[in-house]
Order: sequence, then structure tokens, then C-alpha cells
Amino acid sequence: MTLEGRKAVVTGGGQGIGKAIALKLASLGAAVAAVDINKKGAKEVAHEIAESGGAAFAYRLDVSDAEEATEVMKSAAEDLGGIDVLVNNAGVTRDNLIIRMSPADWDHVLQVNLTGAFNCIRAVARGMMSQRYGRIVNISSIIGQVGNIGQANYAASKAGLIALTKTVARELGPRGITANAVAPGFIETAMTESLSEKVKEEFAAKILLRRLGTPEDVANLVAFLASDEGNYITGQTINIDGGMVW
Ligand code: NAP
Repeated sequence: MTLEGRKAVVTGGGQGIGKAIALKLASLGAAVAAVDINKKGAKEVAHEIAESGGAAFAYRLDVSDAEEATEVMKSAAEDLGGIDVLVNNAGVTRDNLIIRMSPADWDHVLQVNLTGAFNCIRAVARGMMSQRYGRIVNISSIIGQVGNIGQANYAASKAGLIALTKTVARELGPRGITANAVAPGFIETAMTESLSEKVKEEFAAKILLRRLGTPEDVANLVAFLASDEGNYITGQTINIDGGMVW
């Protein structure tokens, strides 16, 4: 599997799953733009890639801002020499029961997780269409398939991403562009670190493989979908959860 000569953008690429994806794509030969609201994290990831001999750039972007997304994708395309792969990974949670969830928390999660992906896809689609090649991978969640108490906003955003993925696959497939969603289960990152060890153990006991996932587990799947090995897969949602939901 190689990504030699490919140019990839990873949103939320400054830490966690996005960082693992950026490093994996780079290790397979892709030039990578790490894009994050936290520029420091993105810069560190780009530095780590450069240290190991790869090509990388870092940008600050709040994906929920459509104008900013268009500008940053334009800069990334100029610096990378085009964009072949877009991984929409930036995501947030603002958990609460529906009766306590503020409209602001509902809006924020939808705006980052769902509208953010739309903003970035919209910004790269024309370029991918004219080069008749593109790989779009949206990081959804199993929560978007089964829901979760306290995560109405997050679940809706992740379900929306699956529908967005299917529509992008339909619209852009004839131009040689694939679009797929990856739905991780419970992955150990900053997003999940606030949970106690006891809660984590309880989760693990319900997972067929009896362990939580790692960012690298997710990155391996994204790399496959971004590579030529994944050429004939589009419009799909692939769960990567050690056996939680099927
Ligand atoms: P994470 O460690 O919190 O990393 C998310 C990254 O996205 C952070 O660097 C964050 O920056 C950045 N970000 C937040 N808002 C942004 C915005 N508006 N624009 C650009 N970047 C933004 O989370 P993670 O666990 O790696 O999750 C990555 C993706 O996987 C998310 O979409 C998440 O929903 C999904 N996922 C995670 C799990 C899991 O168990 N961890 C399971 C299923 C799906 P700041 O830290 O500065 O906010």
C-alpha cells in the first residue's frame, strides 16, 4: 500500500485520531496538510512528519467557518500542489441530556462536526472534479448509528455525516471521487480520557475484542480507503469498533 505522490488534508490533524491519520498517510508517502483549530498541535504534527523525511504543512482552521475553510483549502492546495485526499476528522462533543442541552451546544456540535465537513468538501470538490480523482473520508461514529444518552447533538451530527457521505459519493462518483465514512467505536484519545478507568473497563467488557481502540487502528482503515487499494469502495460506512455495533 502506498500513497506516494498523493496530497492529503486532515482536519483536526493536531492530535488524537487526526494526528494518527496524518502520520500514517505521511508514512505511506503522502504530502500532508495538518489542519486544526489548534495551530500548535498541527505544527507539531507537521514537524514530526518533516523530521522523519516527509512533506507536511500546518494550518489553523476552524472548520465551522465556511469562508476560512475555502481560504485554507486554497492555501493547502497551492502548497501541496493539489489535494487528492480529504479526511474530515475535526470533531467536538458538548454532552448533556436533551432537557438540559442548550441550543448553543446543539448548534456548536452540528456546526463543527457536520457543517465543518460540508465546508471542507465544498472547498476541495471542484479541484478533485477537474483532476478526476479524489478520496474523501469522513470520520463519523457508531453513536451516529445507535444514538447515545447525553449525546443528541453529537449523534445527530455523526448520522448527518453518513448521509452527507452517501450524497457526496453519488454526486462525485462519476468524476472518479470516492467518499466513505469511518465509524469508530470507543477510541482512547483526549475526547474519551475524562472517563474513569472503571467506566473504560466496563466498555471494554462489552467489546468483542475486549479492548478499546487506538487512534492507529482508525488511521490504518483511513489509509486503506485513501489508497488505490480502496479504489472500488464508495458511499460506505465502515465501523471500526472491535465488535460493538453491527
Ligand atoms: P480530539 O482528541 O478531541 O481531537 C479533535 C481535534 O479536532 C482537536 O485537535 C481539536 O482541537 C480539533 N478541533 C476541534 N474543533 C475544531 C474546529 N472547529 N476546527 C478544526 N479543528 C477542530 O478527538 P478524537 O478523539 O481524536 O476525535 C477525532 C474524530 O473522531 C472526531 O470527529 C470524533 O467525533 C471522532 N470519533 C472519536 C471517537 C473516540 O472514541 N475518541 C469515537 C468515534 C468518533 P482542540 O483540542 O483545540 O479543540
